[in-house]
Amino acid sequence: MRTIEGIGVSAGVAIGRVFVVDTDHRRVSRREISPEDVPEEIARFESALVSSIADLNAVHAEAERQMGREAAKVFLFHLGMLQDRSLVDPMRALIAEDHLSAEYAVSSVFRRWAERFGAMHDSAFTTKVNDIYDLSERVLGHLAGERQSKLAELTGPTIVIGAELTPSETAGFDRSKVLGFATEYGGKTGHTSIVARALGLPAVVAAEGVLKAALHGSRALVDGERGLVILDPDEATIQRYAGYAESAEERRVTLAELTDKPAVTTDGVEIELLGNIEFPEEIPSVLGHGGTGIGLYRTEFLYLTGGSEPTEEDHYDAYIACLRLLEGRPLTIRTVDLGADKYTQERAAVPERNPFLGLRSIRYCLQRLPMFKTQLRAILRASAEGPLKIMFPLITSVGELRHARMIVRDVMEDLAEEGVAFDREIPIGMMVEVPSAAVMADIFAKEVDFFSIGTNDLIQYTLAVDRTNERVANLYAPTHPAVIRLIREVSRAARRRGVPVSCCGESAGDLEFAVLLIGLGLRTLSVTASAVPALKRLVRSVSVTQCERVARKAVSFDSEVQVAAYLRDRVRKMVPEAFDGRAVE
Ligand code: PEP
Ligand code: MG
Repeated sequence: MRTIEGIGVSAGVAIGRVFVVDTDHRRVSRREISPEDVPEEIARFESALVSSIADLNAVHAEAERQMGREAAKVFLFHLGMLQDRSLVDPMRALIAEDHLSAEYAVSSVFRRWAERFGAMHDSAFTTKVNDIYDLSERVLGHLAGERQSKLAELTGPTIVIGAELTPSETAGFDRSKVLGFATEYGGKTGHTSIVARALGLPAVVAAEGVLKAALHGSRALVDGERGLVILDPDEATIQRYAGYAESAEERRVTLAELTDKPAVTTDGVEIELLGNIEFPEEIPSVLGHGGTGIGLYRTEFLYLTGGSEPTEEDHYDAYIACLRLLEGRPLTIRTVDLGADKYTQERAAVPERNPFLGLRSIRYCLQRLPMFKTQLRAILRASAEGPLKIMFPLITSVGELRHARMIVRDVMEDLAEEGVAFDREIPIGMMVEVPSAAVMADIFAKEVDFFSIGTNDLIQYTLAVDRTNERVANLYAPTHPAVIRLIREVSRAARRRGVPVSCCGESAGDLEFAVLLIGLGLRTLSVTASAVPALKRLVRSVSVTQCERVARKAVSFDSEVQVAAYLRDRVRKMVPEAFDGRAVE
């Protein structure tokens, strides 16, 4: 038995057989294979090579057509390399003779070549280093492509273990087979983790060393609450976990009694508790957990799970399905937030140096107006059928907001001309998830109907900490005074203008942070379905006056450590019942 610690990102415990998906584009770890697996591994390698050569032939022909023979020559260099035996034979040897995985063989030989070229003094060679890495990514990409189909062929109860999983891979898991997962990299608010929570799939990320230690086909236990991966658990451990499961069930039953009760504080203030969803199918779970509507529908998942770009009818059908399930309850549809860690196949082919600072979200939509308009048409058409709001993600400047609003007006005019019904007064709001938007909240408040604070991004952009990077996970601090001050400013600016403001980041589901948010003036929290019951119990146990006192004290500290320690201590003393039975880390 071996226990590996990581970050628990989705609570629950799962036990199953390990399925290793080991492609690691960032650092391909050395993985040995058994001698009997060599022929299959060689076949995978040869097939990735053939597919890469086919790609390059097509890319070369297209480049020659568009840019001319000279400019397209770079692809001939790529093709030449892939057919060069001094490059590919050592790869074959690493697999066949040293019994190493195809991924490791490919990446290590390419890396050696890149290092050799980089060390030369002739710029004709050093400039080729990027080409070599590019080529390496292409071959690894083909090896990775296979894993999609492998994942689709799982047979029994499985724990998936990998370097990283994409949000769409996670969303596509067959839930009757995949019971949980653990990855070497990743962060708590990355979208893969968010999807895991939405699906109720126990998950641990940043479990360093898990990829190397896990044996395909052996037994593993994932404890998503404590952030542990236990390889080959012994009987005593399994029994202990059966005990945990019993108390978790008791906790669930107690909280279930609150489902139909209102979320009102002890001094009579109603706190609206809404759900965050990625798919309409999650709505029954939000309502079943006591949520009273949807505060964030991440519609980009329509693009991530299907094979082709969704049509206007695909959008429309999804929104109508939501409205039916909600029966008059509110629904906030966020326009597509692609990019960063959420890619379609097409986008994945165009890597960016800094994807979180790149062509993501509203920027992407404003550069792809036909796609944006397709979605807006569907939302507006659906607005004739029930209470809908439109929310734009990642707004950074008023120009961007006005541009997006202008597109909505254009689409409204088109629909009016066609005689199609829609709600002309549909509320239009924005996410406040970058510091520029928070700092200028007073200006934005004049131009929107509502704000929703997205702490997941607000924290990463304020503190310059990649939300998906496990190496800086300790710096990703929701309680950082800069973050709290920004939230306070947004709340104040919104209140002055009478603009409703909610929070739909993951921090809203954290009980201690929720007290702070209420104290800072927020009256709507939108969270993952499973977080609603505990949040409701908290709301029903505190007064707004108490929360305000906590917030006043919290903003007086000058470090995130002090704020976190204060909240932890104060809130647990204030409402011990809200933490009953919770694992204390
Ligand atoms: C956020 O950034 O807090 C948010 C809710 O949006 P997403 O997690 O989809 O980026
Ligand atoms: Mg965001």
